[in-house]
Amino acid sequence: MEAIDTEIIAALTAIATSKSIPFCYGCYTRAVTGRCTTCGSDDLMRELPGIGVEYGCDWVIPDILNAALTAANTEDAFEQSIAGCYPETVQIGWLTYDTVSAIKELDPVSWSLAHSEWLDSEVSDGNLLSFDGGGTHYWRTDVEDFIEAEEPQPES
Ligand SMILES: [Zn+2]
Repeated sequence: MEAIDTEIIAALTAIATSKSIPFCYGCYTRAVTGRCTTCGSDDLMRELPGIGVEYGCDWVIPDILNAALTAANTEDAFEQSIAGCYPETVQIGWLTYDTVSAIKELDPVSWSLAHSEWLDSEVSDGNLLSFDGGGTHYWRTDVEDFIEAEEPQPES
């Protein structure tokens, strides 16, 4: 992983921490100070109000992003990228197709394979980010804008 991704994860973790509440599962109560006032435990879960309770912040990040951002439409983006590479139309007999439609019609398997490869390369270039193991992708710029808007400001 690149350094920038560590920074993004750290920033998102800080946002997830600020938007979730420490929660003592044993007493089933919030522990806003970071220590349960009932049992004294600091082995606390995080509660995301309206969503649930779980250990750690990793699970909070996808939930918060899912609520705040529109997932990248990788199919559309891939189409645009291919259309940019092959702007010409193709002639088949008396039919005229744009290249994207022709490939999708003639060889959908090849199209889908090329889409996966394109997706992998966008992810490894850091243009697309996923926080749920590849189920949902977000554009890096969207995530960075979200961080800028939501990042908890240090007390001055
Ligand atoms: Zn407790």
